[in-house]
Amino acid sequence: MNDSTRLTMRYCCYCGGPVVERIPAGDSLPRMVCDACDIVHYRNPRVIVGTLPLWKDQRVLMCKRAIEPRLGFWTIPCGFLENGETTEEGAIRETQEEAHANVRITNLHSVYSIPHINQVYLVYRAELLDLNFSAGEESLEVRLYERDEINWSEIAFSSVRFALESYYADLDARTIRTHNGKFIPEY
Ligand SMILES: [Zn+2]
Repeated sequence: MNDSTRLTMRYCCYCGGPVVERIPAGDSLPRMVCDACDIVHYRNPRVIVGTLPLWKDQRVLMCKRAIEPRLGFWTIPCGFLENGETTEEGAIRETQEEAHANVRITNLHSVYSIPHINQVYLVYRAELLDLNFSAGEESLEVRLYERDEINWSEIAFSSVRFALESYYADLDARTIRTHNGKFIPEY
């Protein structure tokens, strides 16, 4: 277990009592446990959802980030899944928020795990329905990219790079499938 998965909670968010770190009965991993109200405070990876918005199956809509991390770098629309929404709803919402873009999801494009920071990306391939897009609050600029226009050193995240590379691999192979990827840093 590395630093990012260490548990730091000190007080129970339900009763305010102290929490202790121990392995609950029947479990195999240490958890933060409140003995006052008998609650186990599980902490699990977060899901990030997004779309790969395609115009005529040729060009990809990307956003230049207006916020940290990776301010000024390019991403596809994506963000944290909210409670109460499906992954598809979250992906469409993020696409609306970041690019004011109208999309129709076609299929699950990529699943990408980043275990050292406890993140899982789900990216949906989506059809851009019109060209009425513009920069949302979290974007400096939004534009369509041709394949040879992409500057790979300006891509914000490894998950986005993976989604784009997978898309072009599909194009070259004349296929559409779901891709599985991961990022494991070398220490
Ligand atoms: Zn408690």
